[in-house]
Amino acid sequence: MHRNDLSAYWMPFTDNRGFKADPRLLASAEGMHYRTPEGRPLLDGVAGLWCVNAGHGRARITEAIQRQAAILDYAPPFQLGHPLAFELADRVGQIMPAGLDRIFFAGSGSEAVDTALKIALAYQRAIGQGSRTRLIGRERGYHGVGFGGISVGGIVNNRRAFGVQLPGTDHLRHTHDPARGFSRGQPESGAELADDLERLVALHGAETIAAVIVEPVAGSTGVLIPPRGYLERLREIATRHGILLIFDEVITGFGRLGAATAAEHFGVTPDLITLAKGLTNGAVPMGAVAASRHVHDAIVEGAAPGIELFHGYTYSGHPLAAAAGLATLDTYAEEGLFARAATLASVWEEAVHSLRDHPHVIDVRNLGLVAGIELAPRPGAPGARAMDVFRRCFDTGLLVRVTGDTIALSPPLIIEDAQIAEVVERIGAVLDETA
Ligand code: PLP
Repeated sequence: MHRNDLSAYWMPFTDNRGFKADPRLLASAEGMHYRTPEGRPLLDGVAGLWCVNAGHGRARITEAIQRQAAILDYAPPFQLGHPLAFELADRVGQIMPAGLDRIFFAGSGSEAVDTALKIALAYQRAIGQGSRTRLIGRERGYHGVGFGGISVGGIVNNRRAFGVQLPGTDHLRHTHDPARGFSRGQPESGAELADDLERLVALHGAETIAAVIVEPVAGSTGVLIPPRGYLERLREIATRHGILLIFDEVITGFGRLGAATAAEHFGVTPDLITLAKGLTNGAVPMGAVAASRHVHDAIVEGAAPGIELFHGYTYSGHPLAAAAGLATLDTYAEEGLFARAATLASVWEEAVHSLRDHPHVIDVRNLGLVAGIELAPRPGAPGARAMDVFRRCFDTGLLVRVTGDTIALSPPLIIEDAQIAEVVERIGAVLDETA
Protein backbone atom coordinates (compact mmCIF):
# COMPACT_ATOMS: atom_id res chain seq x y z
CA MET A 1 0.00 0.00 0.00
CA HIS A 2 1.38 3.44 -0.92
CA ARG A 3 1.95 5.55 2.18
CA ASN A 4 -0.25 8.33 0.79
CA ASP A 5 -3.15 5.93 1.01
CA LEU A 6 -2.97 6.19 4.78
CA SER A 7 -3.13 9.94 5.10
CA ALA A 8 -6.88 10.50 5.38
CA TYR A 9 -7.31 8.48 8.56
CA TRP A 10 -6.32 10.62 11.58
CA MET A 11 -5.49 7.81 13.96
CA PRO A 12 -6.33 7.91 17.67
CA PHE A 13 -3.60 7.85 20.35
CA THR A 14 -1.09 7.24 17.56
CA ASP A 15 2.16 8.76 16.35
CA ASN A 16 0.48 9.40 12.97
CA ARG A 17 3.66 10.51 11.19
CA GLY A 18 5.72 7.62 12.49
CA PHE A 19 2.99 5.10 11.80
CA LYS A 20 2.34 6.25 8.25
CA ALA A 21 6.07 6.11 7.47
CA ASP A 22 6.26 2.56 8.81
CA PRO A 23 2.74 1.13 9.15
CA ARG A 24 1.70 -1.91 11.15
CA LEU A 25 -1.49 -3.32 9.72
CA LEU A 26 -3.77 -6.09 10.87
CA ALA A 27 -5.90 -7.87 8.30
CA SER A 28 -7.70 -10.71 10.08
CA ALA A 29 -7.94 -12.56 13.36
CA GLU A 30 -8.91 -15.96 14.69
CA GLY A 31 -8.63 -17.46 18.16
CA MET A 32 -5.41 -16.28 19.79
CA HIS A 33 -3.92 -14.76 16.64
CA TYR A 34 -4.06 -11.76 14.37
CA ARG A 35 -2.69 -11.89 10.85
CA THR A 36 -0.98 -9.11 8.95
CA PRO A 37 -1.95 -8.40 5.32
CA GLU A 38 1.03 -10.57 4.31
CA GLY A 39 -0.44 -13.45 6.32
CA ARG A 40 2.10 -13.30 9.15
CA PRO A 41 0.55 -14.51 12.45
CA LEU A 42 0.78 -12.46 15.64
CA LEU A 43 0.04 -14.02 18.99
CA ASP A 44 -2.38 -11.67 20.76
CA GLY A 45 -0.99 -10.83 24.19
CA VAL A 46 -3.51 -8.08 24.88
CA ALA A 47 -6.93 -9.33 23.73
CA GLY A 48 -6.90 -6.61 21.07
CA LEU A 49 -7.11 -3.72 23.52
CA TRP A 50 -8.19 -5.58 26.67
CA CYS A 51 -11.51 -6.50 25.06
CA VAL A 52 -11.47 -9.75 23.07
CA ASN A 53 -11.70 -11.93 26.18
CA ALA A 54 -13.18 -14.98 24.39
CA GLY A 55 -10.62 -14.84 21.57
CA HIS A 56 -11.09 -13.67 18.02
CA GLY A 57 -13.61 -14.58 15.37
CA ARG A 58 -15.99 -16.50 17.59
CA ALA A 59 -18.60 -17.95 15.25
CA ARG A 60 -21.43 -17.67 17.75
CA ILE A 61 -20.85 -13.96 18.21
CA THR A 62 -20.34 -13.31 14.50
CA GLU A 63 -23.52 -15.17 13.59
CA ALA A 64 -25.55 -13.37 16.26
CA ILE A 65 -24.45 -10.01 14.85
CA GLN A 66 -25.17 -11.09 11.26
CA ARG A 67 -28.60 -12.45 12.21
CA GLN A 68 -29.53 -9.33 14.14
CA ALA A 69 -28.44 -7.01 11.32
CA ALA A 70 -30.92 -8.76 9.06
CA ILE A 71 -33.76 -8.73 11.62
CA LEU A 72 -33.52 -5.26 13.16
CA ASP A 73 -30.60 -3.08 12.12
CA TYR A 74 -31.33 -0.16 14.40
CA ALA A 75 -33.97 0.88 16.92
CA PRO A 76 -34.19 4.31 18.53
CA PRO A 77 -33.65 3.94 22.28
CA PHE A 78 -35.53 7.02 23.52
CA GLN A 79 -39.14 6.23 24.52
CA LEU A 80 -38.84 3.00 22.46
CA GLY A 81 -37.20 -0.35 23.07
CA HIS A 82 -36.31 -3.64 21.46
CA PRO A 83 -36.22 -7.04 23.17
CA LEU A 84 -32.49 -7.75 23.07
CA ALA A 85 -31.55 -4.60 24.99
CA PHE A 86 -33.82 -5.65 27.87
CA GLU A 87 -32.54 -9.21 27.71
CA LEU A 88 -28.90 -8.09 27.78
CA ALA A 89 -29.53 -5.70 30.68
CA ASP A 90 -31.08 -8.59 32.58
CA ARG A 91 -28.16 -10.91 31.82
CA VAL A 92 -25.52 -8.32 32.72
CA GLY A 93 -27.37 -7.59 35.97
CA GLN A 94 -27.25 -11.30 36.83
CA ILE A 95 -23.46 -11.38 36.86
CA MET A 96 -22.94 -8.06 38.62
CA PRO A 97 -22.50 -7.95 42.42
CA ALA A 98 -25.84 -8.33 44.22
CA GLY A 99 -28.01 -5.26 43.83
CA LEU A 100 -26.17 -3.68 40.89
CA ASP A 101 -28.72 -4.81 38.36
CA ARG A 102 -29.99 -1.63 36.78
CA ILE A 103 -28.10 -1.28 33.52
CA PHE A 104 -27.70 1.89 31.44
CA PHE A 105 -26.18 1.34 27.99
CA ALA A 106 -23.67 3.59 26.27
CA GLY A 107 -21.48 3.29 23.19
CA SER A 108 -18.01 3.03 24.75
CA GLY A 109 -16.05 3.04 27.97
CA SER A 110 -15.64 6.81 27.86
CA GLU A 111 -19.38 7.25 27.52
CA ALA A 112 -19.96 4.78 30.34
CA VAL A 113 -17.66 6.84 32.59
CA ASP A 114 -19.37 10.13 31.81
CA THR A 115 -22.72 8.42 32.31
CA ALA A 116 -21.68 7.11 35.73
CA LEU A 117 -20.42 10.53 36.82
CA LYS A 118 -23.68 12.14 35.73
CA ILE A 119 -25.73 9.46 37.46
CA ALA A 120 -23.76 10.13 40.66
CA LEU A 121 -24.51 13.85 40.45
CA ALA A 122 -28.18 13.23 39.66
CA TYR A 123 -28.42 10.81 42.58
CA GLN A 124 -27.05 13.28 45.08
CA ARG A 125 -29.46 15.93 43.85
CA ALA A 126 -32.37 13.46 43.96
CA ILE A 127 -31.73 12.66 47.62
CA GLY A 128 -31.52 16.32 48.57
CA GLN A 129 -27.71 16.53 48.58
CA GLY A 130 -27.40 18.95 45.70
CA SER A 131 -24.30 20.59 47.18
CA ARG A 132 -22.40 17.41 46.42
CA THR A 133 -20.99 18.25 43.00
CA ARG A 134 -17.32 17.42 43.46
CA LEU A 135 -15.93 14.34 41.70
CA ILE A 136 -12.82 12.64 43.00
CA GLY A 137 -10.53 10.56 40.81
CA ARG A 138 -7.00 9.30 41.32
CA GLU A 139 -3.58 10.12 39.96
CA ARG A 140 -2.60 7.77 37.15
CA GLY A 141 -6.26 6.91 36.61
CA TYR A 142 -7.55 6.40 33.08
CA HIS A 143 -11.26 6.87 32.56
CA GLY A 144 -11.46 7.42 28.84
CA VAL A 145 -11.37 10.66 26.94
CA GLY A 146 -14.64 12.50 27.57
CA PHE A 147 -14.33 15.75 29.52
CA GLY A 148 -15.62 13.98 32.63
CA GLY A 149 -13.18 11.13 32.17
CA ILE A 150 -10.11 13.30 31.63
CA SER A 151 -11.08 15.52 34.55
CA VAL A 152 -11.19 12.67 37.06
CA GLY A 153 -8.41 10.85 35.22
CA GLY A 154 -4.84 11.39 36.21
CA ILE A 155 -2.76 11.39 33.04
CA VAL A 156 -1.27 14.74 32.19
CA ASN A 157 -0.77 14.03 28.47
CA ASN A 158 -4.50 13.41 28.13
CA ARG A 159 -5.24 16.85 29.57
CA ARG A 160 -2.54 19.36 28.78
CA ALA A 161 -3.53 20.15 25.18
CA PHE A 162 -7.12 20.88 26.08
CA GLY A 163 -7.05 23.44 28.87
CA VAL A 164 -10.54 23.26 30.25
CA GLN A 165 -11.76 20.45 32.45
CA LEU A 166 -14.70 19.94 34.75
CA PRO A 167 -14.42 22.29 37.70
CA GLY A 168 -14.49 20.86 41.20
CA THR A 169 -12.52 17.67 40.76
CA ASP A 170 -9.70 16.40 42.92
CA HIS A 171 -7.52 13.32 43.03
CA LEU A 172 -6.38 10.67 45.45
CA ARG A 173 -2.71 9.74 45.25
CA HIS A 174 -2.00 6.72 43.10
CA THR A 175 -1.18 3.45 44.80
CA HIS A 176 2.06 2.57 43.06
CA ASP A 177 5.19 2.33 45.19
CA PRO A 178 8.37 1.12 43.47
CA ALA A 179 9.60 -0.07 46.87
CA ARG A 180 7.00 -2.84 46.62
CA GLY A 181 8.43 -3.99 43.27
CA PHE A 182 8.00 -7.57 42.05
CA SER A 183 5.16 -8.23 44.49
CA ARG A 184 3.05 -11.09 43.24
CA GLY A 185 -0.65 -10.31 43.13
CA GLN A 186 -1.72 -7.61 45.58
CA PRO A 187 1.05 -5.76 47.42
CA GLU A 188 0.86 -6.44 51.16
CA SER A 189 1.23 -2.82 52.26
CA GLY A 190 -0.30 0.47 51.18
CA ALA A 191 -3.97 0.17 52.27
CA GLU A 192 -3.57 3.45 54.15
CA LEU A 193 -3.37 5.29 50.81
CA ALA A 194 -7.17 5.06 50.82
CA ASP A 195 -7.10 7.52 53.72
CA ASP A 196 -6.45 10.16 51.07
CA LEU A 197 -10.21 10.25 50.72
CA GLU A 198 -10.43 11.33 54.37
CA ARG A 199 -7.88 14.05 53.60
CA LEU A 200 -10.00 15.34 50.70
CA VAL A 201 -13.11 15.20 52.88
CA ALA A 202 -11.28 17.27 55.50
CA LEU A 203 -10.13 19.70 52.80
CA HIS A 204 -13.36 20.17 50.85
CA GLY A 205 -16.12 18.99 53.20
CA ALA A 206 -18.00 15.76 52.58
CA GLU A 207 -21.09 17.80 51.72
CA THR A 208 -19.36 18.90 48.49
CA ILE A 209 -18.33 15.43 47.26
CA ALA A 210 -20.64 13.37 45.07
CA ALA A 211 -18.50 10.40 44.11
CA VAL A 212 -15.08 8.85 43.94
CA ILE A 213 -14.08 6.86 40.86
CA VAL A 214 -11.18 4.43 40.64
CA GLU A 215 -10.08 1.55 38.46
CA PRO A 216 -9.88 -1.43 40.83
CA VAL A 217 -6.75 -2.40 38.86
CA ALA A 218 -5.38 0.53 36.86
CA GLY A 219 -4.56 -0.73 33.39
CA SER A 220 -3.67 2.07 31.05
CA THR A 221 -1.12 3.67 33.35
CA GLY A 222 1.02 0.61 33.69
CA VAL A 223 -0.98 -2.10 35.50
CA LEU A 224 -1.18 -0.89 39.09
CA ILE A 225 -2.47 -3.53 41.48
CA PRO A 226 -4.32 -2.25 44.57
CA PRO A 227 -2.64 -2.95 47.89
CA ARG A 228 -4.40 -5.47 50.10
CA GLY A 229 -7.21 -3.79 52.02
CA TYR A 230 -7.10 -0.57 49.97
CA LEU A 231 -10.41 -0.98 48.14
CA GLU A 232 -12.13 -2.18 51.31
CA ARG A 233 -10.95 0.93 53.13
CA LEU A 234 -12.00 3.22 50.29
CA ARG A 235 -15.47 1.63 50.39
CA GLU A 236 -15.74 2.15 54.12
CA ILE A 237 -14.66 5.80 54.00
CA ALA A 238 -16.93 6.59 51.04
CA THR A 239 -19.93 5.02 52.77
CA ARG A 240 -19.24 6.83 56.02
CA HIS A 241 -19.29 10.19 54.22
CA GLY A 242 -22.22 9.60 51.86
CA ILE A 243 -19.91 9.53 48.83
CA LEU A 244 -20.76 7.15 45.99
CA LEU A 245 -18.03 4.70 45.00
CA ILE A 246 -17.63 4.04 41.28
CA PHE A 247 -15.46 1.20 40.01
CA ASP A 248 -14.33 1.72 36.45
CA GLU A 249 -14.31 -1.90 35.28
CA VAL A 250 -13.94 -1.23 31.57
CA ILE A 251 -10.82 -3.42 31.67
CA THR A 252 -11.46 -5.63 34.69
CA GLY A 253 -15.05 -6.55 33.81
CA PHE A 254 -15.85 -9.90 32.20
CA GLY A 255 -13.29 -12.26 33.59
CA ARG A 256 -9.96 -10.44 33.49
CA LEU A 257 -9.30 -11.20 37.17
CA GLY A 258 -10.99 -14.60 37.16
CA ALA A 259 -14.47 -13.38 38.14
CA ALA A 260 -17.21 -11.46 36.35
CA THR A 261 -16.04 -8.25 37.98
CA ALA A 262 -13.14 -6.97 40.05
CA ALA A 263 -15.78 -6.09 42.63
CA GLU A 264 -16.55 -9.79 42.96
CA HIS A 265 -12.88 -10.74 42.93
CA PHE A 266 -12.01 -8.32 45.73
CA GLY A 267 -15.30 -8.74 47.59
CA VAL A 268 -15.91 -4.98 47.55
CA THR A 269 -19.20 -3.69 46.19
CA PRO A 270 -19.28 -0.20 44.70
CA ASP A 271 -22.46 1.79 43.96
CA LEU A 272 -21.80 2.02 40.23
CA ILE A 273 -19.69 -0.05 37.83
CA THR A 274 -18.65 1.07 34.35
CA LEU A 275 -18.29 -1.62 31.70
CA ALA A 276 -17.36 -1.84 28.00
CA LYS A 277 -14.77 -3.84 26.02
CA GLY A 278 -15.40 -7.47 27.07
CA LEU A 279 -19.14 -6.81 27.17
CA THR A 280 -19.33 -7.61 23.45
CA ASN A 281 -15.92 -9.31 23.17
CA GLY A 282 -14.92 -6.14 21.34
CA ALA A 283 -16.98 -7.13 18.31
CA VAL A 284 -19.43 -4.19 18.39
CA PRO A 285 -18.81 -0.98 20.36
CA MET A 286 -20.80 -0.88 23.60
CA GLY A 287 -20.43 0.48 27.10
CA ALA A 288 -22.67 0.21 30.14
CA VAL A 289 -23.15 1.38 33.70
CA ALA A 290 -24.39 -1.10 36.28
CA ALA A 291 -26.17 0.92 38.97
CA SER A 292 -27.20 -0.25 42.39
CA ARG A 293 -30.89 -0.31 43.10
CA HIS A 294 -30.67 2.46 45.67
CA VAL A 295 -29.04 4.80 43.17
CA HIS A 296 -31.43 3.87 40.38
CA ASP A 297 -34.51 4.03 42.55
CA ALA A 298 -33.61 7.39 44.06
CA ILE A 299 -33.42 8.89 40.59
CA VAL A 300 -36.18 6.96 38.82
CA GLU A 301 -38.76 6.36 41.54
CA GLY A 302 -38.15 9.76 43.06
CA ALA A 303 -38.72 11.74 39.88
CA ALA A 304 -41.83 13.60 38.79
CA PRO A 305 -43.78 11.79 36.04
CA GLY A 306 -41.92 11.88 32.73
CA ILE A 307 -38.30 11.38 31.75
CA GLU A 308 -36.29 10.75 34.91
CA LEU A 309 -32.74 11.17 33.58
CA PHE A 310 -32.02 13.52 30.72
CA HIS A 311 -29.17 11.46 29.37
CA GLY A 312 -28.63 8.79 26.71
CA TYR A 313 -27.08 8.05 23.35
CA THR A 314 -28.40 7.36 19.87
CA TYR A 315 -26.62 4.02 20.12
CA SER A 316 -27.58 3.09 23.70
CA GLY A 317 -28.53 -0.59 23.60
CA HIS A 318 -27.88 -0.83 19.84
CA PRO A 319 -29.42 -4.05 18.46
CA LEU A 320 -26.15 -5.34 16.97
CA ALA A 321 -24.26 -4.62 20.19
CA ALA A 322 -27.01 -6.24 22.25
CA ALA A 323 -26.90 -9.35 20.05
CA ALA A 324 -23.11 -9.46 20.33
CA GLY A 325 -23.34 -8.99 24.10
CA LEU A 326 -25.77 -11.85 24.58
CA ALA A 327 -23.71 -14.22 22.43
CA THR A 328 -20.58 -13.11 24.30
CA LEU A 329 -22.11 -13.77 27.73
CA ASP A 330 -23.28 -17.19 26.48
CA THR A 331 -19.74 -17.94 25.33
CA TYR A 332 -18.19 -16.88 28.62
CA ALA A 333 -20.70 -18.97 30.58
CA GLU A 334 -20.62 -22.12 28.45
CA GLU A 335 -16.85 -22.20 28.23
CA GLY A 336 -16.38 -21.20 31.88
CA LEU A 337 -13.91 -18.55 30.79
CA PHE A 338 -13.93 -16.51 34.01
CA ALA A 339 -13.08 -19.64 36.02
CA ARG A 340 -10.50 -20.55 33.40
CA ALA A 341 -8.80 -17.19 33.93
CA ALA A 342 -8.77 -17.84 37.68
CA THR A 343 -7.19 -21.25 37.11
CA LEU A 344 -4.57 -19.88 34.74
CA ALA A 345 -3.63 -17.00 37.03
CA SER A 346 -0.91 -18.90 38.90
CA VAL A 347 0.70 -20.22 35.69
CA TRP A 348 0.55 -16.68 34.35
CA GLU A 349 2.12 -15.27 37.50
CA GLU A 350 5.04 -17.72 37.37
CA ALA A 351 5.57 -17.06 33.69
CA VAL A 352 5.59 -13.26 33.81
CA HIS A 353 7.80 -13.13 36.90
CA SER A 354 10.38 -15.24 35.05
CA LEU A 355 11.09 -12.07 33.04
CA ARG A 356 12.55 -10.46 36.14
CA ASP A 357 16.17 -11.25 35.24
CA HIS A 358 16.08 -9.96 31.68
CA PRO A 359 17.73 -6.64 30.82
CA HIS A 360 15.94 -3.38 31.75
CA VAL A 361 13.19 -5.01 33.87
CA ILE A 362 12.67 -2.99 37.05
CA ASP A 363 9.30 -4.39 38.14
CA VAL A 364 6.77 -7.10 37.30
CA ARG A 365 3.18 -6.76 38.50
CA ASN A 366 0.36 -9.23 37.97
CA LEU A 367 -3.16 -10.21 38.97
CA GLY A 368 -5.61 -12.55 37.25
CA LEU A 369 -4.66 -12.56 33.58
CA VAL A 370 -3.07 -9.12 33.65
CA ALA A 371 0.59 -8.24 33.91
CA GLY A 372 2.80 -5.19 33.69
CA ILE A 373 6.50 -5.54 32.93
CA GLU A 374 8.09 -2.21 33.79
CA LEU A 375 11.35 -1.26 32.09
CA ALA A 376 13.94 1.29 33.11
CA PRO A 377 13.41 4.31 30.86
CA ARG A 378 16.22 5.43 28.57
CA PRO A 379 17.77 8.59 29.98
CA GLY A 380 15.91 11.59 28.58
CA ALA A 381 13.59 9.45 26.47
CA PRO A 382 10.75 8.09 28.57
CA GLY A 383 8.70 5.44 26.76
CA ALA A 384 11.21 4.98 23.93
CA ARG A 385 12.59 1.66 25.14
CA ALA A 386 9.15 0.12 25.65
CA MET A 387 8.06 1.39 22.23
CA ASP A 388 11.08 -0.36 20.70
CA VAL A 389 10.03 -3.54 22.50
CA PHE A 390 6.49 -3.15 21.14
CA ARG A 391 7.83 -2.78 17.56
CA ARG A 392 10.22 -5.71 17.85
CA CYS A 393 7.53 -7.91 19.34
CA PHE A 394 5.24 -6.98 16.45
CA ASP A 395 7.98 -7.81 13.96
CA THR A 396 8.67 -11.15 15.61
CA GLY A 397 5.06 -12.30 15.99
CA LEU A 398 3.64 -11.02 19.30
CA LEU A 399 1.18 -8.21 19.98
CA VAL A 400 1.79 -6.42 23.28
CA ARG A 401 0.74 -3.00 24.52
CA VAL A 402 2.99 -0.41 26.03
CA THR A 403 2.07 2.43 28.32
CA GLY A 404 4.97 4.65 29.29
CA ASP A 405 7.82 2.21 29.90
CA THR A 406 5.56 -0.63 30.96
CA ILE A 407 4.67 -3.57 28.73
CA ALA A 408 1.05 -4.37 29.55
CA LEU A 409 -0.27 -7.87 28.93
CA SER A 410 -3.88 -9.07 29.07
CA PRO A 411 -4.36 -12.05 26.76
CA PRO A 412 -7.69 -13.56 25.75
CA LEU A 413 -8.95 -15.87 28.49
CA ILE A 414 -8.71 -18.83 26.07
CA ILE A 415 -4.91 -18.69 26.13
CA GLU A 416 -3.21 -22.08 26.50
CA ASP A 417 -0.25 -22.84 28.77
CA ALA A 418 2.06 -23.20 25.76
CA GLN A 419 0.97 -19.79 24.50
CA ILE A 420 1.66 -18.22 27.89
CA ALA A 421 5.16 -19.67 27.63
CA GLU A 422 5.44 -18.29 24.10
CA VAL A 423 4.42 -14.77 25.18
CA VAL A 424 7.12 -14.75 27.83
CA GLU A 425 9.80 -16.31 25.61
CA ARG A 426 9.21 -13.80 22.86
CA ILE A 427 9.31 -10.83 25.24
CA GLY A 428 12.43 -12.20 26.93
CA ALA A 429 14.20 -12.63 23.59
CA VAL A 430 13.26 -9.09 22.52
CA LEU A 431 14.43 -7.63 25.85
CA ASP A 432 17.76 -9.42 25.50
CA GLU A 433 18.45 -7.65 22.25
CA THR A 434 16.97 -4.25 23.12
CA ALA A 435 19.35 -1.41 23.93
N1 PLP B 1 -12.00 3.31 31.49
C1 PLP B 1 -10.97 2.47 31.52
C2 PLP B 1 -10.53 1.89 32.82
C3 PLP B 1 -10.32 2.09 30.34
O1 PLP B 1 -9.26 1.28 30.38
C4 PLP B 1 -10.78 2.62 29.12
C5 PLP B 1 -10.13 2.25 27.86
O2 PLP B 1 -9.09 1.62 27.81
C6 PLP B 1 -11.85 3.51 29.13
C7 PLP B 1 -12.45 3.83 30.33
C8 PLP B 1 -12.35 4.15 27.88
O3 PLP B 1 -12.97 3.23 27.06
P1 PLP B 1 -13.22 3.59 25.51
O4 PLP B 1 -11.87 3.63 24.86
O5 PLP B 1 -14.11 2.47 25.03
O6 PLP B 1 -13.91 4.91 25.46
